[in-house]
Amino acid sequence: MNPAEEARRLDAADPLAAFRDRFLLPGGVIYLDGNSLGALPRDTAARLEAVVRREWGEGLIRSWNGAPDLNGERAPGWVDLPQRVGTKIAPLIGAQPHEVIACDSTSVNIFKLISAALAMQSGAQGHRRKVILSEPGNFPTDLYMIAGLEAQGLAQRRLAPADQLADALDEDVALLLLTHVHYRTGAMHDMAELTRMAHRAGAFVLWDLSHSTGAVEVDLGHCGADFAVGCGYKYLNGGPGAPAFAFVAERHHARLAQPLTGWFGHARPFAFEDDYSPAAGVARLLAGTPPILGLAALEVGVDLVAEIGVTRLAAKSRALSEFFLRCLQASGDLPEATPAPASCPSGTAEGAPAGCSAARHELHCVSLADPARRGSQLSFRHENAYAVTQALIARGVIGDFREPDVLRLGFSPAYLRFRDVADAARHLAEVLRSGEWRQPRFATRAQVT
Ligand SMILES: *Cc1c(COP(=O)(O)O)cnc(C)c1O
Repeated sequence: MNPAEEARRLDAADPLAAFRDRFLLPGGVIYLDGNSLGALPRDTAARLEAVVRREWGEGLIRSWNGAPDLNGERAPGWVDLPQRVGTKIAPLIGAQPHEVIACDSTSVNIFKLISAALAMQSGAQGHRRKVILSEPGNFPTDLYMIAGLEAQGLAQRRLAPADQLADALDEDVALLLLTHVHYRTGAMHDMAELTRMAHRAGAFVLWDLSHSTGAVEVDLGHCGADFAVGCGYKYLNGGPGAPAFAFVAERHHARLAQPLTGWFGHARPFAFEDDYSPAAGVARLLAGTPPILGLAALEVGVDLVAEIGVTRLAAKSRALSEFFLRCLQASGDLPEATPAPASCPSGTAEGAPAGCSAARHELHCVSLADPARRGSQLSFRHENAYAVTQALIARGVIGDFREPDVLRLGFSPAYLRFRDVADAARHLAEVLRSGEWRQPRFATRAQVT
């Protein structure tokens, strides 16, 4: 295979090619970290400028209800922005419009929804389920949020590897909390099957969709999921620290209760009553005043993802990562650059069976071989993964490093070309072949990796 020629052919046939221009990407950079911070949509700066200068500067407090804009029309009010962005995220994850709200961070939403699940499990039956079941190696904030509730005596944390979750789901489990696409390996859980399994055991399920939303197809409704959360700044391109979202299935709305009972989640915030009375549905997940600048930027990113469509995004993402692997193999001197067998578990690198951890001195793909069972990323183990990552960044190929030894490359389908992928594979092969990662300047750890 000739990677450059093949890339030209694939780019010419790419139905999403035109969307690259809807983003502002710096020259000389191949951006393989959209799974950590999505790129800047072209329309975001103008939207923020309008919100700041016109809606804030001129509309002032009137803009909460919708300030008159320059044409004398009313701009939509700020007060509904969390719901409005939620209704736009809903179809991307197979939810109904009124089941999703954009608010707070993913971490805070996890806390609220674990609490909600615990409250719903403390029914009249007498036996109180307190165990929150997750897997070792899950994203840290998910595990830390369980720990916080555990420290208050409200929950009990239990961890079981993916293949032992069925046994761990006993009559004490209140909630199964899993990340759909693993942040380190990209392995994707079978959402429908695990949800069914949890429900059979009498537990609810909370899915963390941070590495799924906008990159792979998700159908919460079809799976019968109870709760979900997800991130606004990764594949939704909402900008650094963008608000996250929370999903609660409609059947749970009437019983939904969460402990951060702030005034924006009140049924009548501007009645200024002394007693809390929750708003209907997911609106009661709001706590304080919504961050309008962040939500406005997120809305631009969500609109763009919705316009492109998740099905097309997911298909291209699979094509990009498969092409990257073929290019790497075509480079000839990377015998270990083969995907791990499908049995390789989704947990930490340490949890991988012997077949997955061979040849540590070489590059070894720890993502699953079947593109339908992984998210929009490829992860490679290398003994000096941090230095390799830094050497790639110095060449303008931006990926990231994840402890302890993983080089992570994200393939954001909305703005990457096959040409970029071929170039990135060539750079990686050259960095490894030349040994340039050994330069001392690539060994110094930054605070954010
Ligand atoms: C990125 C990510 C988060 C982020 O949480 P924040 O509260 O926004 O920092 C949470 N969970 C997973 C699985 C993630 O990948």
